[in-house]
Amino acid sequence: MLEIQDLRVTHGPIEAVHGIGLSVAEGSCVALLGPNGAGKTSTLSAITGTARSTGSIRLAGQDISRLAVEARTRLGIAISPEGRRIFSNLTVRENLVMGAASRANKAGVNKEILGWFEQFPILGERRDQPAGTLSGGEQQMLAIARALMSQPRILLLDEPSLGLAPQITARIFDIIRDLRRQGITILLVEQNATAAIGLSDYVYVLNNGTISSQGEAAQYGDGAMLMDQITGVHS
Ligand code: ATP
Repeated sequence: MLEIQDLRVTHGPIEAVHGIGLSVAEGSCVALLGPNGAGKTSTLSAITGTARSTGSIRLAGQDISRLAVEARTRLGIAISPEGRRIFSNLTVRENLVMGAASRANKAGVNKEILGWFEQFPILGERRDQPAGTLSGGEQQMLAIARALMSQPRILLLDEPSLGLAPQITARIFDIIRDLRRQGITILLVEQNATAAIGLSDYVYVLNNGTISSQGEAAQYGDGAMLMDQITGVHS
């Protein structure tokens, strides 16, 4: 579904990602792991079109690397960004409506929103509240549901566990596992290697802008060694 080759990402004079390749098969969940500053968010920004990059980015066979952000969204790229970035002043329901803004076919939007309220009853209860009043975990659920309202071909998740208590993190990872079971293609960026490996098919480890390791998730066991590497580099 997503095929990246020789990707370089720059922020002004700084090159954050130095020519990486990665692919995400349709219906799979791929984890992109690594410490702070490794280039994970830069990679996602290159895919969504918000960072400057060179190299090829193919979505379902089509090179999208030179397209504007909106065109990529229309073709099927959706992101739940780092820090959620929900619209705090809009209600929960309005956030979900905004998620569908790029859709040519708006039929079914209301029904899908009701579907999300069934899946996440807490969001249903708070549908008319400003989204800024939700807890961190609820905001993360909303950010994921909002991204999926665009009916993407691939869902990019940037550190969904960031800043959440362990119990809430576990709930968010259960949700991601469910989405994968429903056949949604996912690229998951995480520092929490143990949790990410548990629900991924394939793993890439990014360090200083290059892929330092990659393989089937099973080959990393419970991820404890990777976790040491990641936190070791970090500290
Ligand atoms: P984090 O978990 O902290 O988000 P990350 O792995 O996602 O880490 P990036 O945010 O992609 O890493 O950062 C990679 C490198 O690029 C870092 O050295 C960072 O300082 C630099 N960088 C990221 N964004 C910018 C920017 N907008 N301008 C300048 N440098 C940037």
